[in-house]
Amino acid sequence: MIDAIRPQPGILDIALYEGGKSHVAGMTNALKLSSNENPFGPSERAKEVFLRSVHQLHRYPGTDHASLRQAIAEVHGLDAGRVICGVGSDEIITFLCQAYAGPGDEVLFTEHGFLMYRISALAVGATPVEVAERERTTDVDALLAGCSPRTKLVFIANPNNPTGTMISQAEIARLAAGLPPQAILVLDGAYAEYVQGYDGGLGIVEARSNVFMTRTFSKIYGLGGLRIGWGYGPKAIVDVLNRIRGPFNLSTTQLEVAEAAVRDQEFVTRCRAENARWRVWLAEALAEIGVPSDTSTANFILARFADSEEAELCDLFLQSQGLIVRRVASYKLPNCLRITIGDEASCRRVAHAVAQFKGLR
Ligand SMILES: *Cc1c(COP(=O)(O)O)cnc(C)c1O
Repeated sequence: MIDAIRPQPGILDIALYEGGKSHVAGMTNALKLSSNENPFGPSERAKEVFLRSVHQLHRYPGTDHASLRQAIAEVHGLDAGRVICGVGSDEIITFLCQAYAGPGDEVLFTEHGFLMYRISALAVGATPVEVAERERTTDVDALLAGCSPRTKLVFIANPNNPTGTMISQAEIARLAAGLPPQAILVLDGAYAEYVQGYDGGLGIVEARSNVFMTRTFSKIYGLGGLRIGWGYGPKAIVDVLNRIRGPFNLSTTQLEVAEAAVRDQEFVTRCRAENARWRVWLAEALAEIGVPSDTSTANFILARFADSEEAELCDLFLQSQGLIVRRVASYKLPNCLRITIGDEASCRRVAHAVAQFKGLR
């Protein structure tokens, strides 16, 4: 009987993740601004290492990621023994849910939080709990009020995707201090490098035993296609996660390219500056024509329209102009479009097209 074959509870509640669109029908050279990718690609040094890695494809990779962890530790001034590397930070999020949540447990995240938190919670049979935000910003009081004796994990992205907003170190500290004793606070720092002077939550990870940080090579490092991320946290948690991590979860190519990338901080600094400059420019250009956005600290802005219909029409118009941005109705923001900050030419094209849509030019 086919009916007897059933997946684990929760699995069928998962809505398939839809990535940012990359094509417009009938157009060959559309500009993709829908997945928060680095318009400059990866650093030249990372690309050279990628090409060289072809000579050792017959070799198994190392299992302990020692060299990459050491590089990350040196660059960020942290303990290499408490770094864990994964297939994107998505895999680290998966490990956290597998290790700490199951049926009957609750996994908290915010109203407009990253979709992977819900997916990873459901995948292990845990109960996803969505907490309201305040003006598209993480609300610490609401998160604390949303905790229960069954709360095991609390995920916040800071800066958050798709809102681009972030909360202060003091607010993060207040959240960490107020959680019930069995809960881990996970700070998703996918966009941390875009914030000048922000440590991604490292300080609070070091100060406490219930805070874990995730980071990625997919955004400012321009390596989304290669799938590398890492996590940092208390030794006890890292040891647990390493038990479920596949020994060969990362290939030699991934490990070596990531190491070259993290050692090229000059590239990171350049990308951060360029992004900040054009992010401010684009946000102001759109605000002037009646399309406001919250102050973003990441590599995208969340453009707000009058209603979902206007957002959809603008999206269609942008597509007709060869510009692909991200609709975010699945993030409960149907009246918004998330626009990745591209290079100068891309930002100018977006501003021009939105102005045309608004009938202003
Ligand atoms: C893009 C993104 C990530 C990165 O995921 P990877 O698996 O590392 O590519 C993680 N968290 C958030 C909030 C993101 O937007």
